[in-house]
Amino acid sequence: MKKMRMAQVSRTEDMGPHMRRIILRGEELSDFPLGYESAHFKAVFPRPGQSKPKLGIFPGFKKWMRSYTVRDFNEQTKELTVDFAVNDHQGLATNWAKSAQVGDYLGVAGPGDAKYPNYHAGWHLLMADLTALPAAAAILEKLPKTAVGTAFIQVPTAEDKQSIAAPEGIDVYWLINDNLSRNALLEQLERLAWQDGSPAVFVAAESSQMKAISKHLKTKPGYSKEQTYTSGYWKA
Ligand SMILES: Cc1cc2nc3c(=O)[nH]c(=O)nc-3n(C[C@H](O)[C@H](O)[C@H](O)COP(=O)(O)OP(=O)(O)OC[C@H]3O[C@@H](n4cnc5c(N)ncnc54)[C@H](O)[C@@H]3O)c2cc1C
Repeated sequence: MKKMRMAQVSRTEDMGPHMRRIILRGEELSDFPLGYESAHFKAVFPRPGQSKPKLGIFPGFKKWMRSYTVRDFNEQTKELTVDFAVNDHQGLATNWAKSAQVGDYLGVAGPGDAKYPNYHAGWHLLMADLTALPAAAAILEKLPKTAVGTAFIQVPTAEDKQSIAAPEGIDVYWLINDNLSRNALLEQLERLAWQDGSPAVFVAAESSQMKAISKHLKTKPGYSKEQTYTSGYWKA
């Protein structure tokens, strides 16, 4: 198990109707590692009736953890930025984020590895639903300025679009789709004019949709397992 740190909410910001940004601070974040944007960590939530999460390994500890993404970690202020999908479902994590107030406690276990297989590939393809928007945005902001390719990002409404500092050569398409059982990312992939060469690929979305996309990708010329990251970020 990676290091666990106690943090507190220092600010919140609504990024749109379905995404709430939570900025965390705390003495224990002072040695949070740098350069882990797009990596996941386990957020550890307080149990009902308690204000602080219980950190450490104890029977049933996983019940109080969920995976979230390092959207940003500010080296100067030691602030960790996390974007939570809200208002589409009920759950421990989303409910916590929705009602989070300055001073609320959250445990931070991790981070894991950063998620992108090759920042210097000939071209890039990123496909993300709302839960993977934070990772896709962090990757797009880290790609070299000369990078080329396509990013499909699915959000429930036009108001959920965000501004991302992506390289000019990456076409970022926002797919507006609030029907979570429709695989709009796959529909776009089927229509994409596939380029020559071997792309680096990031796909993260609902698990069964990610699997259908992954199956399709494997039929494409230049597909390389080593240059492809696919992950189910939640299960319907
Ligand atoms: C590596 C990784 C990184 C992730 N990073 C982020 C991130 O930065 N931001 C983020 O918002 N999510 C992220 N997720 C997804 C997040 O972990 C899940 O959505 C998680 O299930 C939310 O926990 P919960 O307690 O709110 O709901 P749960 O208690 O886990 O689930 C309750 C119910 O809600 C449904 N559900 C869960 N998530 C969603 C959803 N997003 N939309 C609709 N229904 C849902 C489930 O099917 C279940 O029926 C990430 C997942 C992984 C694996």
